[in-house]
Amino acid sequence: MEAAHALVRGLETSGLVELAGMHRDQTLDIEDLIPQVIDELGVAIAARSTVVERRAGEVASNYLAGDIAFIEGLSGVLSWQARYFEEGYGYRCCDSMLWLELWLVSVDDDDDTTYWFGSQTAAEETFREHCSAMVEGRKCPKPEKGR
Ligand SMILES: [Zn+2]
Repeated sequence: MEAAHALVRGLETSGLVELAGMHRDQTLDIEDLIPQVIDELGVAIAARSTVVERRAGEVASNYLAGDIAFIEGLSGVLSWQARYFEEGYGYRCCDSMLWLELWLVSVDDDDDTTYWFGSQTAAEETFREHCSAMVEGRKCPKPEKGR
């Protein structure tokens, strides 16, 4: 649909014409065509890492603003980071997020909020610090073990 809209706006390229004719289920064909269309249009697209950083930053900022709760914020940041690093195993931007991920798994699987951090409060404090760093563009804070 976006491709069709672009054609209406006069952005006509052969790739875009093909893309506009495809059905949304043709995901593999669409993925193949996208680099061609981008090239034809001569537009610069954001690197995937930049997109992920921005999206995760939005979640962090919503959490800091009190719009979403701790667990929801943590899940959101983790899931954006996983989208970028989906091919890697257990990768996070830093050890803090790795420990927070394992903490969340422990909460989900065993209802245990004490993993590594000692308490949910300590885990949330670590996450809050991390979110502040993300939003303010600082480096990831170093993890501190609870208890
Ligand atoms: Zn980090």
